[in-house]
Amino acid sequence: MFWKIATLTVAAGLALTPAGAARAVELDCARAAGITADAPDPALAEMTCEAAAAAKALMAPCGLVQTAPIRISVVKSAEHPSFGTCLAIYDARSGCLEVTEPEGILPLLAGRDARDALPVDVLFRALTVHELAHAFTAQTAGDIAIGPAEQEFIANVFEMMSLPPEWREQMLAAHPVDPPGALGVVHPSIYALAPRAFANNAWRLFEAKGNGCALVQRIVTGEFAFPAH
Ligand SMILES: [Zn+2]
Repeated sequence: MFWKIATLTVAAGLALTPAGAARAVELDCARAAGITADAPDPALAEMTCEAAAAAKALMAPCGLVQTAPIRISVVKSAEHPSFGTCLAIYDARSGCLEVTEPEGILPLLAGRDARDALPVDVLFRALTVHELAHAFTAQTAGDIAIGPAEQEFIANVFEMMSLPPEWREQMLAAHPVDPPGALGVVHPSIYALAPRAFANNAWRLFEAKGNGCALVQRIVTGEFAFPAH
């Protein structure tokens, strides 16, 4: 146990919960101030808070910060307003952040995405970090509009960063892209058609000399955008 539970409130409807059934909980993350995890059971709420704390630790050095409360809902199946069932979603307009519960993740990826080889706890953390990167980017940028290519670049960089190095290498090997990455590949159409190549390219670009957090900062301050096609 790495953190102290600040509050642990049992969600409404306890009286109707059968004995032995999982208790839905809402947890204020002690190690990730300003983040609340809403999950089907206490262990999952704690796992979500751990992922949120990891996300903050990864993003703070790049100047991505949280400026307003965020609630992470762990659900049976996250729903994108346009595309339906998805792994996870952050809607900047509503501030709604949903992540599919661990047991629901692999069926969505199996045979379709190299990430189906990752341990499910690593995947759950990676997805949570990805969506929090969207949230922190929007909050850090404030009134500056960040385009979809730039948003996904940042989210995929931190998703890759959250992976233990051996798993990151496995993802890079599954869809190889040339170091130091290509600016033209950071495009919404590539993300739609080849999301793993997009993610690997984003990581290679981030790693390239002179980029890193400096590039993330140039994006969130509106100084830099990837070339449009
Ligand atoms: Zn995304």
